Amino acid sequence: MRNLKELTRPNVWALKPYSSARDEYSGVEASVFLDANENPYHAPYNRYPDPLQKELKALIAPIKHVREGQIFLGNGSDEAIDLIFRVFCRPAVDNVVAIDPTYGMYQVCADVNDVEYRKVLLDENFQFSAEKLLAASDEKTKAIFLCSPNNPTGNNLCRKEIEKLLEGFDGLVIVDEAYADFSNARSFLLDLDKFPNLVVLQTFSKAWGCAAIRLGMAFASEEIIGLFNKVKYPYNVNQLTQQEAIALLKDSQKVQEWVEILLKERTRLADSFAALNCCLHIYPTDANFFLAKVTDASSIYAYLVGKGIIVRNRTNVTLCGNCLRVTIGTPEENDALLDALKEMK
Ligand SMILES: *Cc1c(COP(=O)(O)O)cnc(C)c1O
Repeated sequence: MRNLKELTRPNVWALKPYSSARDEYSGVEASVFLDANENPYHAPYNRYPDPLQKELKALIAPIKHVREGQIFLGNGSDEAIDLIFRVFCRPAVDNVVAIDPTYGMYQVCADVNDVEYRKVLLDENFQFSAEKLLAASDEKTKAIFLCSPNNPTGNNLCRKEIEKLLEGFDGLVIVDEAYADFSNARSFLLDLDKFPNLVVLQTFSKAWGCAAIRLGMAFASEEIIGLFNKVKYPYNVNQLTQQEAIALLKDSQKVQEWVEILLKERTRLADSFAALNCCLHIYPTDANFFLAKVTDASSIYAYLVGKGIIVRNRTNVTLCGNCLRVTIGTPEENDALLDALKEMK
């Protein structure tokens, strides 16, 4: 890996971060807070939240088998994705490389930050070649984006190729594991200490059932997390979100139960969907959705909208012509989808 200073934008490396009132006193027991110009009334909402979310990270660390200093928490994983650009990529100078098709936010953040986004096509099995990604990169490439299980295709990326990339690329390798809770594959979280250039993204928005609270996680070396902390807004994760996540983490058995039900439903829904007249193929999935090639994605999508059922039309996405992406719902919701499609003329 190039050293971290070389990878980081010079202005960020030199940045003296904003020091909040809550940062400065830490370490002592205090009971009178006259430091942050808060209103003393309307507890607990009157106080600024913990800028580094220490209680939350202490609960996450043992579940994810990482050290607290290897965790960044943000307003969705989308905040972490944006921070990767803002910390490492010089606008109009640097570039990133990504697989194609994949999650749309990498390109949106690249465009917002005026960073060139280089796409490398997946093969017919939706797998990538480390060699091709390396061939698309140059000395201005700061990061390579992977997503496993991938969205919208649903499949895990080949572990061997990811390792090849981590060893062969001297910039950052981002592995977005938003759907890892639905997959049997070994998480790259367990390899953080082996690969100093690895950044793993996970989220509370999918298996954890908390898309509304906006809480995403990035895991990386303490040095990389330190850079994220320097650039993020001081109070980027609000108090309500921290509280709700703490409550859920103390009851994480529930998440396991949801995942079990959803995996059973995934098998049932995919099997029944495959038998429909309109279904041409269902691609293998390791996530809580599947990609299906159908006879006419746009007309089936419109028909379902008319029935009040919304799936994702991916027909305009690379390699996904006439494909719908279907999220696994409750048994009742999945039956509603199947019934509607059986009735379709
Ligand atoms: C849904 C999703 C996310 C989650 O984003 P949040 O901002 O945490 O809600 C991240 N990556 C991928 C690939 C996703 O599909």
